[in-house]
Amino acid sequence: MNIKILFDKKIPSRKFASGWGFSALIDDHVLFDTGCDGKRLLKNMDEMKIDFKKIEAVVISHNHWDHWGGLKELLKMRSGIQLWVGREGFEKSRFIKSLPAGNMICYPGASSVVSDHVYSTGEIEGRYMFKKMPEQSLILKTSRGLTIVTGCAHPGIVKILETVRERFKENIYLVLGGFHLFGKRRKTIDVIVRRFKELGVENVAPCHCSGKTALNMFHKAYGNNFMDLKVGDSFEV
Ligand SMILES: [Zn+2]
Ligand SMILES: [Zn+2]
Repeated sequence: MNIKILFDKKIPSRKFASGWGFSALIDDHVLFDTGCDGKRLLKNMDEMKIDFKKIEAVVISHNHWDHWGGLKELLKMRSGIQLWVGREGFEKSRFIKSLPAGNMICYPGASSVVSDHVYSTGEIEGRYMFKKMPEQSLILKTSRGLTIVTGCAHPGIVKILETVRERFKENIYLVLGGFHLFGKRRKTIDVIVRRFKELGVENVAPCHCSGKTALNMFHKAYGNNFMDLKVGDSFEV
């Protein structure tokens, strides 16, 4: 399966737009998150020659602006998609009501099938500051094992991995996305890195809100199995 990075602060050159948030495209037809801004998202999609007519499903990890910020702009260009949002996080939100009509809203349960070989974890309970912030992650099932794609990992990156491991009982090939470890102490991150190893995570690609310290520590622990991703990257899992 192919993964393309469409939105993050890291860009390889000025031809891409940088911004806070995250967005990745799976096999050209499942979009995971939309970054903080639609114009910048569409610019990067244009630069990568992505045909948004092929997008069939958009999965929004959680109710933070840096993950749904580009959605409205995208839905002006593409309608008739499945929009996967957490019931707890979005059902009553003003944001969902403000979106253009003509799309099917889907609330994921545990391990819902989004597309062939693509699953949602369903909303996993999480917190941000003092508020509840449930979040869903994506699971890609490939011949190499599972790839897990996270937005901000507010439930805790380890909790997400443990949940997936428990349900799927397969090896974890890659964990990619925001691990939300910025500002965390080295001691805390060290425990998390060790837990990744214990869980048998083979490759890591922390980005977005993972934080520099965590990036360095994961890089050191994973060596060649660490991916330093930026907007414009496209690779197979
Ligand atoms: Zn975020
Ligand atoms: Zn967040």
